[in-house]
Amino acid sequence: MSPRKKSKLQIDLVIPVYNEVEAILRTHADLRLVVDALPHDFRFIYVDDGSTDGTADTLRGISDDDRRVTALTLSRNFGHQSALTAGMDASRGDIMISLDADGQHPPALIPKMIELIQSGYDIVQGQRIEDGRGASFKKLTSNFFYWLINRISGTQVMAGAADFRALSRTALDGVRSMREYHRFLRGMVAWMGYDSVILPYHEPERVAGRSKYSLGKMTRLASDAVFSFSLAPLYIGLSAGFLFFILACGQLAWVLSLWATKNTAQLEPGWSSLMGVLLIASGIIMILLGFIGVYVGYIFQEVKRRPIYLIKGKPQHDGE
Ligand code: UDP
Ligand code: MG
Repeated sequence: MSPRKKSKLQIDLVIPVYNEVEAILRTHADLRLVVDALPHDFRFIYVDDGSTDGTADTLRGISDDDRRVTALTLSRNFGHQSALTAGMDASRGDIMISLDADGQHPPALIPKMIELIQSGYDIVQGQRIEDGRGASFKKLTSNFFYWLINRISGTQVMAGAADFRALSRTALDGVRSMREYHRFLRGMVAWMGYDSVILPYHEPERVAGRSKYSLGKMTRLASDAVFSFSLAPLYIGLSAGFLFFILACGQLAWVLSLWATKNTAQLEPGWSSLMGVLLIASGIIMILLGFIGVYVGYIFQEVKRRPIYLIKGKPQHDGE
């Protein structure tokens, strides 16, 4: 171990903020209560995602009062996932913890998250547990979304996974090396495959204000997740093409059986040939479209330029 080992752990809290003027002071105070009781060096990285309600001024006030606070301001509203990315890019610490600005990710769990990372995990993933408070539209759509993504993509994302998580330096560098534009961080973190542990939590009500995740934003996140983690939609053409070929074979067999049993009087003149050509031609077109889809999928994966592999831990016997 290096003799200049830092005595204190550096921990960055990354907090995306969009129009949270009513919540932000309270959230910062709640975070300070937890953080000030811990022996580590903390930094608060607030990312103002193009707020229009005076959040920027409040953040400036917070950073003037507390030199551990860094406030970044995005030029416009880029969305939660992009704001989180900006905060993670600014993180230099040994551990990064991301949480929402509205108090729905309980700060009281921060010490547990740090403890779990120190015990050797690279990812501590917060999981919102169902509180049985009835079925809301958001809950139903969210459950359907997790069911779908786990069926059609190779990356498993558990239901209730939140952007409330702690990452070791290794895991943070891994996510930072993925520069794709359409980002679904829950999937990207799971995709890396580093040792992870789930930390379940009950989600309290927002400390103030209303949800900033409109239906439009939720739909965009879901479509980013489906299209960037699965090529399944592209294979629809291929499957439909094969289905048409099966239908063409069925039709041919039926017509031949009528010929064999000399029952061709049942057939309208021209029906067999027209139907046969229609089914075969549609099948060929759909299969070719499917092939094009597969190539488009491959191109899509290439242009994302995700790392081809990630290395776990330090190399053994690397000359030290
Ligand atoms: N947020 C953001 N940009 C957006 C929407 C939301 O940075 O375009 C932030 C928001 O301020 C909060 C977090 O993302 O800190 C989660 O948003 P919200 O609490 O509104 O989502 P919900 O909990 O309702 O799913
Ligand atoms: Mg919230």
